[in-house]
Amino acid sequence: MSDKNYYYSEIFNSIQGEGQYTGVPTAWLRFFLCNLQCNGFGQKEPTKPETYELPYQELDVSQYKTMDELPVFEFGCDSSYSWAKKFKGLNNQGTPKEIADKIRQCMVGPWNPQGKFNFNNSERHMCFTGGEPLMKHGQECSVDIMKVYEEERDLPKFVTYETNGTQKLHDKFLQYYAEYRDVWGGELFLSVSPKLWSVAGEEAKRAIKPEVVASYQKVCHNGQLKFVINGTDESWSELDNVIAEFRYHGVDWPIWIMPAGATVEGQKICDADVATEAFNRGYNVSARVHTYLWGNKIGV
Ligand code: SF4
Repeated sequence: MSDKNYYYSEIFNSIQGEGQYTGVPTAWLRFFLCNLQCNGFGQKEPTKPETYELPYQELDVSQYKTMDELPVFEFGCDSSYSWAKKFKGLNNQGTPKEIADKIRQCMVGPWNPQGKFNFNNSERHMCFTGGEPLMKHGQECSVDIMKVYEEERDLPKFVTYETNGTQKLHDKFLQYYAEYRDVWGGELFLSVSPKLWSVAGEEAKRAIKPEVVASYQKVCHNGQLKFVINGTDESWSELDNVIAEFRYHGVDWPIWIMPAGATVEGQKICDADVATEAFNRGYNVSARVHTYLWGNKIGV
C-alpha cells in the first residue's frame, strides 16, 4: 500500500443527495483536482465565456482558514474549491491510511461509536467525489483506502464514484473492483455526469466521452447518467444528441436529470420546469436534496 500523500478537499458524513441512492447514509471523500472547469454553470449565456461572472476568481482566499467557511458559488462549478489552484492551501493531505482513518472518525456518533460502515443493521455507503475522483491519483488512493477497510474487516458494501466520465480506468482500479465484486460481493456504482456545452460551457470534445464510459461497464454493471439541465431549448436538444451517442456506444444506464443551480435559490429558478419536462420525457428526476435540507453549505 502506498505511503504517498494525496491532496483532498474534504471528508464528511451525510446522505447521498442526488440520483438513485438519494437519502442513503454515506461517507464522503472529495479529492482535489479536476480536468474540467465548467465555468458556464449558472451563467446567463453558458456558451459565451466572454460574458461569464466568476466569483471564485475574485475571492480573497487569505480571509479563510478552512474550506467550510467558503461561500457556495452560484456561477461556475459549485466545487471550484476542489480544483482551482488558488484554493490548494485550504485543501488537506494524507496517506491512504490516514485518510481512511479520518473517514472512519467522521462516521463516529452515538449509534456508531467505532465509526463503522456496517453497524446497527445499516450499510453506510462510501462515495468518492471531486473534483474528478477518477484522475490517476484518485483511482490509486481510493483503491488503497478500500484495502485499509478490507484489512480492518469493515468494508463498505456499496461504493460510488461521482465522475464526469472522461477518465479511463487503470489496471489497478479494474483489478481491485473485479475482486471487490467477485470475492466480497460489493457493488461499485458509477454515477457519471457528463457536462453539456449549453449548460456547463465545456466543449464536447473534452467533456463527452461515450467510449470511455462504455469501457466502465467491464467492471461496473450498475451506474447512472446524470445530466444537469438549465431548461433552455438548446440544453434539451443537446441532451437528446448526447444520450443518443451514449446509447450508440452501448451505455444503457438510466438517465437522471437535475436542474441547474448550486444553491436552493439557484435551483428554484428552473427546478419545477426542468423536473416536469424530464418527467414527461420519461427520465428520472433528481435534485440536490442536501441543499434543500441543510441549506447552501459546504460539507453536507
Ligand atoms: S466536472 Fe464537476 S468538479 Fe469538475 S469542473 Fe465540472 S462540475 Fe466542477
